[in-house]
Amino acid sequence: MDAIVALCKRRGFIFQSSEIYGGYNGFFDFGPLGTEIKKNIKDAWWKDMVHRREDVVGLDSSIIMSPKIWQASGHVDGFSDPMVDCKESKMRYRADQLFFAPVIVDGENVGYVSVLEDGEMQAEAEEKAANLKRKLAIQGELAPIELKEYTEADPSEYEKIPSPATGESGSLTAPREFNLMFQTHVGALSDSTSVAYLRPETAQGIFANYKNIVDTGRVKIPFGIAQIGKAFRNEITPRNFIFRSREFEQMEMEYFISPDADWETCHREWIDWCKSWLNSVGIPNEMMGEDVHPLEKLSHYSKGTTDITFKFPFGEQELWGIACRGNFDLTQHQEYSGKSMEIFDESTKSKYVPHVVEPALGVDRLFLAILTAAYCEDEIDGEKRTVMKFHPRIAPYKVAVLPLLKNKPELVERAQSLYEKLQRRHSAFWDASGAIGRRYRRMDEVGTPWCVTIDFDTLEDDTFTIRDRDTTEQKRIKEEELFSLLDEKLY
Ligand code: ATP
Repeated sequence: MDAIVALCKRRGFIFQSSEIYGGYNGFFDFGPLGTEIKKNIKDAWWKDMVHRREDVVGLDSSIIMSPKIWQASGHVDGFSDPMVDCKESKMRYRADQLFFAPVIVDGENVGYVSVLEDGEMQAEAEEKAANLKRKLAIQGELAPIELKEYTEADPSEYEKIPSPATGESGSLTAPREFNLMFQTHVGALSDSTSVAYLRPETAQGIFANYKNIVDTGRVKIPFGIAQIGKAFRNEITPRNFIFRSREFEQMEMEYFISPDADWETCHREWIDWCKSWLNSVGIPNEMMGEDVHPLEKLSHYSKGTTDITFKFPFGEQELWGIACRGNFDLTQHQEYSGKSMEIFDESTKSKYVPHVVEPALGVDRLFLAILTAAYCEDEIDGEKRTVMKFHPRIAPYKVAVLPLLKNKPELVERAQSLYEKLQRRHSAFWDASGAIGRRYRRMDEVGTPWCVTIDFDTLEDDTFTIRDRDTTEQKRIKEEELFSLLDEKLY
């Protein structure tokens, strides 16, 4: 993770927001190459989700919408995480990410340990328990440490659980619900009547426009509405770089189906579609998993949710959630707005409020997964190199044009003409300075799949040397072959 974060900064992918003022927690800025990668991720998704499907249309709704939408959707009352404060250090934690356990020696409770959720928390808690036993100079057998979420603590235990910040007990509060929506005011007045929210998800913009699209588009059940856009959540503990931030982008799609449709099959089809799409942007199957939410943990309206997980450097975590939301959202909006959300189904000649299957993915979270999957260190001719093996669709530059020598006008001119032609269709990079090996290395580090060198042979037969980033193999190629290679690989 440290290597990825350092590379992102060094090569201008991602910066901490407001860095010159010491940074601003939970916000990030994307530099020149990060912007290209993010745009490539969104373009690939849009192309495959909207352009290449006949049953999905696009939408771009506003970020701030009527607060009634968030009342109807349940976000005003229920979009919260349990939080716990340390009164001593003023640190704030998510209660479901703070774990604790009683330390039991020879059957007797001698104190508590606490740890923050991560892949190694069990080992950390065991070490803390052993330290406590040593500190108290107690002999006897330490019982196995059984960690529980702070939300499951008995109120009598709050006082006894040590704060992760100070290591001392007595400063943690009881868990309280904290609404994650950012509030603002719309209009000149700043009172309770002007409160509005920055959207915490793009999905509600889709439900709120569902009627407009049904009335104006030629959509027929089953069909989907897709949207890409910013979402904001006042996360209690933003962490793990861009994995969990307070401002992020989502790519969501609501797929409307008949209430009588076989939703389980539809759900499975979307999970499979999402996994194969992830393959197409460079996420291999072995880095993915599936997490089926147990029935008792589902929201009351949900019939089933499966997360596609990814093996991040800090553990396997949710990447893409695929939820069957029934007709909860549309019926809520029907009730709150008084407008009918029914659709007339030509095929069955019946009217109903459709159900939905929703694949919801974070652009930034996928960006981190792509960085993780692409990051590679290897050795070429005895020299260590860092190479980002981005899928060509995602790579910020598709091709680099390198004239062998910058003081030979014939070479530079031929290279320039190729570069200009490439630029019309692709993001290409020009680099004329430094030894050729160094130039290759610079392109490897930002993941440029191909480098094309214009050398003296080019002046004889008009072929170039093309070098493959992953294998470092080189061969001679003609201009038209280069363009067909790019066409084929950048589908
Ligand atoms: P989590 O449990 O990680 O908070 P969630 O289940 O609340 O996520 P959803 O509401 O299902 O997430 O959002 C859909 C997708 O949006 C997630 O799968 C994730 O990719 C992305 N996402 C959600 N919250 C954040 C965040 N704070 N920062 C970056 N991406 C996020």
